[in-house]
Amino acid sequence: MRTAIYPGSFDPVTLGHLDIIRRASVMFDRLVVSVMHNQNKKPLFTVEERMAFLRRTTESLPNVEIASFDGLLADYARREGACAVVKGLRAVSDFEYEFQMALANRKLNPELDTVFLMTSAEYMYLSSSVVKDIAVHGGSIAGFVPDALEAEIVCRTRKEG
Ligand code: ADP
Repeated sequence: MRTAIYPGSFDPVTLGHLDIIRRASVMFDRLVVSVMHNQNKKPLFTVEERMAFLRRTTESLPNVEIASFDGLLADYARREGACAVVKGLRAVSDFEYEFQMALANRKLNPELDTVFLMTSAEYMYLSSSVVKDIAVHGGSIAGFVPDALEAEIVCRTRKEG
């Protein structure tokens, strides 16, 4: 049973995240998409809301589980019995930080490798922050987030923005 963890803030989940989830789910027997608790930035959605969004949009993928975690990813991965961490790469700017984290995680947990999936070209520019920026300024986020979540994300972003 090969388990991988896909960690992130998912604040909120975008079509870019879902593309990585779909692609990673065929590479592993079990994929745990895990919302990180300890964020420096104040998130817009609570961990529970972010998990609920992820659950609603990954229902059709039977080997995908939604979870959350606090503390060190290397320890969490060991507890979950994971052999890999999945990360998405959008641009060279993502690379340096991710490279450093991958090496640090492998030092902490030598059984843990990081697998990088290149973004699909249509999602290269997409991040949760871009979605929030567009929504707060009244732009359309159709095609950036799952259809079923669009109205809720717009509503919350405008209220808090
Ligand atoms: P972001 O706010 O940038 O979406 P997250 O922490 O939620 O940040 O991202 C979680 C993971 O998903 C990271 O590995 C990130 O590189 C990856 N990711 C986010 N958006 C995309 C995208 N559009 N294409 C590929 N990978 C992505």
